[in-house]
Amino acid sequence: MIGYAEQDLETLVGSAGAGDSLARRELSERLGGICQKASSWQWVIHGETAAYRECVVRWLVDAGRYVGARRFALCGRGDVLCENAKGKLRVRPRGCGARFCPRCSRRAGRRGLSRVAAHLSTREHGNLFHVVLTQRVVPDETLDGARLRFEAAWKRFYTKLRRAGMTAALATYHLTPSARIGWHYHCHLLMEFDGLGEDDATEGLAAAWHWACGETDASRVAPFFCRMITGAGGPLSGLANDTQMEFFEESRNPVEVCLQYIVRDILQGVESWVGRINGRDRALEFVATLTHCKTHRLYGEWRKPVPKDGTEKADEDADAEDETAFDPKLGRLVNSAWKEIGMVDAMVRWIRSGEKSWLSYLTRLLGHRSQKGALTSRLFRLVSALAA
Ligand SMILES: [Zn+2]
Repeated sequence: MIGYAEQDLETLVGSAGAGDSLARRELSERLGGICQKASSWQWVIHGETAAYRECVVRWLVDAGRYVGARRFALCGRGDVLCENAKGKLRVRPRGCGARFCPRCSRRAGRRGLSRVAAHLSTREHGNLFHVVLTQRVVPDETLDGARLRFEAAWKRFYTKLRRAGMTAALATYHLTPSARIGWHYHCHLLMEFDGLGEDDATEGLAAAWHWACGETDASRVAPFFCRMITGAGGPLSGLANDTQMEFFEESRNPVEVCLQYIVRDILQGVESWVGRINGRDRALEFVATLTHCKTHRLYGEWRKPVPKDGTEKADEDADAEDETAFDPKLGRLVNSAWKEIGMVDAMVRWIRSGEKSWLSYLTRLLGHRSQKGALTSRLFRLVSALAA
């Protein structure tokens, strides 16, 4: 399965690691070039992030992190499309695992997704809200400075949330560069409340957040978004049916569909943020912050796993299998409930060389799944171009 080019890179990684400075320079050039010329499938999963990825990979090489640099550049090139006995498709990722990778950062949110799905599918729930907390952008502030300022306000706000009846929350910090200088550090939350109504939430929580931020001037306060997704009710059983972050199947229940999108939006990876970062220094500032801070957090009831529920276990097993079932010597999967169809990159090449029958797999991957979202629309564009 490992091609000549990849083996060659491995040799370079080895030589660079042994102190060969020429190998190190060649590795930087080669990996930078790979990021610039992403494969079609890498483009689907990483989006328009080539400049950022090149910048990061060169920094990784400069920092002596040769193996990580190689994995980062090749992230997604070995992804395999698999099918189970029920005809369900999934992409088995061969990712790099970096928190600052456009693709792997998205997958990192899956634990939060399956935890929340496990809770909401097995018990009655309270009022569910989507809240976005923002803070004023300070033009000359560093990203870490913005993070610390936010954290201080969050601690004060959290006590108010508990008092207002918040029983569980999923929080994700979004780090986007401001159009001017400075960073737009903000937080998306899915929260469950016991008894709090929409009007009280909108007014009361907004006032509490502005108090927590120390904002007294009403004309300068940062926007506060709050919307009730659904009132209290019975289990949302369909949520646990598909906990893939990418190319998931929509539920038939409209409330569940709404939640499916909101949770994935909350847990989104860094792709859309890094696409807006200008310049090497800011890209590296971003990578440094992501390396040492946690972007997803669970609070209250959702911190605990649901006893005897299989949702998280199924996802953990699938992830573990992704690590162990692929035998690089044989170049295929072993002992798996999933049958390997082929490497996605290879399938695209086969289709381009005239073997159009492979197109049906990519069409099926797109099939009944979400038509919204950047990732799906890129796969749609790829499939349309290949079909033409
Ligand atoms: Zn990756």
